[in-house]
Amino acid sequence: MVQETCAGTRIQPMSARDRVLAALAGKPVDRPAAVSPTSIATVELMDRVEASFPEAHRDPRLMARLAETARTEVGFDTIMPVFSVVQESAALGCQVEWGTQSNWPTCVGTLARSADELRVPPDVLAKPDTQCVLDCIRQLKSRWNDEVAIVGKTMGPWTLGYHVFGTQNFLLMTIDRPDEVKRSLDVLKELTVQFGVAQIEAGADVLTLPDHATGDLVRAAYYRDYLQDLHAELCDRIPCPLILHICGATEDRMPYIRETGFDAFHFDSKNDVRRSLALMQGKCKLVGNINNPRTLFTGTVADVQQETLAVLDAGLTMVGPECALPLACPLENLKAIPETIIEWSRRRSIEN
Ligand SMILES: [Zn+2]
Repeated sequence: MVQETCAGTRIQPMSARDRVLAALAGKPVDRPAAVSPTSIATVELMDRVEASFPEAHRDPRLMARLAETARTEVGFDTIMPVFSVVQESAALGCQVEWGTQSNWPTCVGTLARSADELRVPPDVLAKPDTQCVLDCIRQLKSRWNDEVAIVGKTMGPWTLGYHVFGTQNFLLMTIDRPDEVKRSLDVLKELTVQFGVAQIEAGADVLTLPDHATGDLVRAAYYRDYLQDLHAELCDRIPCPLILHICGATEDRMPYIRETGFDAFHFDSKNDVRRSLALMQGKCKLVGNINNPRTLFTGTVADVQQETLAVLDAGLTMVGPECALPLACPLENLKAIPETIIEWSRRRSIEN
């Protein structure tokens, strides 16, 4: 299929990897990309390839086998192997409960009570749970080379703050001890950079950087005061396309996010696509937006098709689930995303 763009330029069919990298750079694409910056692992996919949680968080071979189902079973343009949010926190020394096949790992307890107690061990990247991710990315790169975009993940310092101090304690610190929060973020951001750079060296084409300054938890001013400059620094120091992930309603902080230098923002269906595109002014691309609980998890294939068509018509060039997919999501619903993108593009090329 050769698509004619509005400018009349003919776009040759692209590899999945080239399509994702072009969409992230705001360059012309042969069709919109099916992209998931966060996990799309499901119990059905785990059973299909015999690579299951919790082992797939800790064994690089199983992690790679489960991750590549995004391409082989679902048809996405990305493979994203870092399913959980705890890999580097485990390496820091946080106590982790790794969960079961049908639930997620979580950090429990607290590792530190003050900024002075925080330190990133010099051998943090040699710990089993960071090594697992790096080994897995090396395996995926050698198998998929330039065919599919390999997306790694390095957690931002705000989310790491929740894990090391406990979410409630950290949020209270932002009120009582803002200077200590800033000092803690300065320590933790070094782990974000180190783990990100190591994943690029291992073969990641793109990195997701989740930093949960979420609409339900903190106000937009928090993003501006604590994270805008820090995120700009991370964008300067991590040399690959970066996708920021924050869940929830985030339109109020998009004017700050767009000035940081992130290539894209992974946004939730609580945000209107057209309004969000206008807020980003083309400075930061948008990805995601298909609702998880209502559409992908409990809806029908027709619901997924309808929502995918709506975001494509609104101008989104990277479409996928809004956040880590519920583990019991039906596979047919997930597959409807790339299938609908392909059908929408085919119809557009005929109309043009
Ligand atoms: Zn999320």
